Amino acid sequence: MEVSLMDLEAQYREIEDEVLAVVKKVLRSGCYILGPNVRLLEEEIASYCGSKYAVGVASGTDALELSLAALGVGEGDEVVTTPFTFVATAEAIVRVGARPVFVDIEKDSFNIDPVRIKEGITERTRAIVPVHLYGQSANMEAILEIAEEYHLKVIEDAAQAFGAEYRFSLSGESNGRPRVKKAGSLGDAGCLSFFPTKNLAGYGDGGMVLAWDGEIAEKLRRLRVHGTGQDRYSYTLRGKNSRLDEVQAAILRVKLKYVEEWLKMRQQRASLYDELLREVSVPVRTPLVTPYTTHTYCVYTILAPHRNELEEYLKKKGINCRVYYPVPLHLQDTYKYLDYHKGDFPVAEKVSKEVISLPVYPELPEEKLRYVVQEIRKFYS
Ligand SMILES: *Cc1c(COP(=O)(O)O)cnc(C)c1O
Repeated sequence: MEVSLMDLEAQYREIEDEVLAVVKKVLRSGCYILGPNVRLLEEEIASYCGSKYAVGVASGTDALELSLAALGVGEGDEVVTTPFTFVATAEAIVRVGARPVFVDIEKDSFNIDPVRIKEGITERTRAIVPVHLYGQSANMEAILEIAEEYHLKVIEDAAQAFGAEYRFSLSGESNGRPRVKKAGSLGDAGCLSFFPTKNLAGYGDGGMVLAWDGEIAEKLRRLRVHGTGQDRYSYTLRGKNSRLDEVQAAILRVKLKYVEEWLKMRQQRASLYDELLREVSVPVRTPLVTPYTTHTYCVYTILAPHRNELEEYLKKKGINCRVYYPVPLHLQDTYKYLDYHKGDFPVAEKVSKEVISLPVYPELPEEKLRYVVQEIRKFYS
């Protein structure tokens, strides 16, 4: 049996008529950049995520770079983040001229360890970038407390966690924040990606920044069009070209209506994996969900002994898995200049050798899922 990691076509086929209709409408409108669909999508996503403002940009990577810039992070600044993430997180920090400072992760959630964050803070630190890896939120309450104490900005990399719900403890509530919020709406800026494999996905690149502060939102709107000022062809900020286009925005507006349903389907498939993997008692660790967040299972990642052999074995059986991520960023060539070494972040280094993500997508048929579990059982017996 063939089991692909995800099946983007399956979802497209379900909504094909609706998608083609809106695409046709955009194409006939003559308005292709920063038109009504982008504006409406921004409103709809701000409302869905419980944020005040949303600004569409060209990608999740740009969302990170532009929010750092909008919050005044630049040359000579340091930004504390996790080494166990997609490269874009650190890349955006470098792009604005700042220095990524890595701190280790929690072994249970794979997210940045708040206890370690303070160790990374110096007088040059300006911001913290937590990543909500695999689909569940990092410990934002602890992170926001540290940010407040040290006067730092918090930029959430929520690229993998669109729709994840964060629950503040009672003390959070008394700070005047709503008790339940969506990932990306908790910090000074929250970065979303609409890359085709994410929870809310376009048919191309796209991204968005969520923000609470109107001035920051306004700055982002100018940064995405070359830093344009009040008058056309006057420039007050060093910006770039980073816009979400009308076709993608129109498609995303269609998909936003279904996203809750698709998240539920992901969660159902994840629960079935949890249950079946427990039943066959294989030596793998299924994803642990922390008490303060829901898990959206953008990917379903287990810890597996003999990971590389397992991956090889499953591939031979027609099952496509993926390792996110085999080498933590502090050990990548690009970041050699930061002068980190093997052993600096033992948790990230250890899990990078054991993680493997199994096929998961809303439409994944149960028989395929059962086949994956069966083959994992065969591998270990
Ligand atoms: C996908 C992703 C990004 C980048 O998003 P793009 O839209 O592909 O630029 C950033 N951070 C994380 C954690 C991601 O998974």
